[in-house]
Amino acid sequence: MRPIRALIDHAALAHNYARAKALALGARAFAVVKADAYGHGLMQVNAALPQVDGFATLEFESALALRDAGRTEPLLLLEGAFSIAEVCEAARRDIWIAVHDDASLARIEQAALPAPLGVFVKFNTGMNRLGFAPARAAEVLARLSACAGVTVRAVMAHFATADDEVRGISWQMARFDAEPALAGLPQSLANSAALIDFPAVHRDWVRPGIMLYGATPFAHRSAASLGLRAAMTLESELIAVQSLRAGEVVGYGATFTAEHDMRIGVVACGYADGYPRHAPNGTPVVVDGVVTRLVGRVSMDMLTVDLTDVPAAGVGSAVQLWGAQLPVDVVASAAGTIGYELLTAVTMRVPRIAL
Ligand SMILES: *Cc1c(COP(=O)(O)O)cnc(C)c1O
Repeated sequence: MRPIRALIDHAALAHNYARAKALALGARAFAVVKADAYGHGLMQVNAALPQVDGFATLEFESALALRDAGRTEPLLLLEGAFSIAEVCEAARRDIWIAVHDDASLARIEQAALPAPLGVFVKFNTGMNRLGFAPARAAEVLARLSACAGVTVRAVMAHFATADDEVRGISWQMARFDAEPALAGLPQSLANSAALIDFPAVHRDWVRPGIMLYGATPFAHRSAASLGLRAAMTLESELIAVQSLRAGEVVGYGATFTAEHDMRIGVVACGYADGYPRHAPNGTPVVVDGVVTRLVGRVSMDMLTVDLTDVPAAGVGSAVQLWGAQLPVDVVASAAGTIGYELLTAVTMRVPRIAL
């Protein structure tokens, strides 16, 4: 079998959720598991977190899978239901749904509900993606309370710059707190960054995602400094070794030229596994426990690394692309992106193995 795999550290997931709960003080915390639990595998997280206050996701099938797995906690669909049939199915399976605009509200009003339905009403405080204008709160809440069987479980909003130490959240909170109809209801506002930095907005339900997976929501603070542990280690092996003479090149486009005679390791990992093709020469990679560097262009199924500082490495040597020894955030930063993107990009062909 091809040696690439993603090790999923259940103890790290449990540690990170406990860390989120400790930071949340009294608030309840949804474990955000959209995008197949940020690439870790929904059922891995289901197994790792036997005790959570709830799960939040976007994909209807993920919520159904959690119910089918026997989870009885609150489940929330962050983008709501996309049809009247889904509204009814959500009610039947006791899955809460976000309602964020006139069309999603109309679907709830028109549904012949087979069972009670819980909703989170989303308000737009400046992100300008989803949500009603806060000034419409009284009207929207009145329309929902006129729907038999519908219970508003909370009002919610989402921050655009909670991870930005300068811009922060006060500009959005000013709009939220200025609307009297939003006071007095349970509230859900905070993503990981706001949960970590702004205790005043924890309110009733927090929604940590990235921190559960042991990556940082911040550009300039490491996951370790936040007390988090990497939940995924993406590892593979060297499947070949090349000896290059000074002046020789490696890979498509010949983007790396050997500065001196050197050994190059060929790793069974490429962009079809989710490793970013745009990672440049010098991106860190761990071989046999030693941090070395990517050289040459990442191809579909392989990438190549400098073995100068790992003279004993050979075919079969262990390679870590990111994880326990090399934070995904460091690799992401070298590649000009964020940990979120790398974690969620790991493809289906990479087996997720419980650690
Ligand atoms: C993804 C998401 C979150 C989690 O955000 P993190 O930055 O990963 O903590 C919270 N709320 C909503 C609405 C989301 O879509």
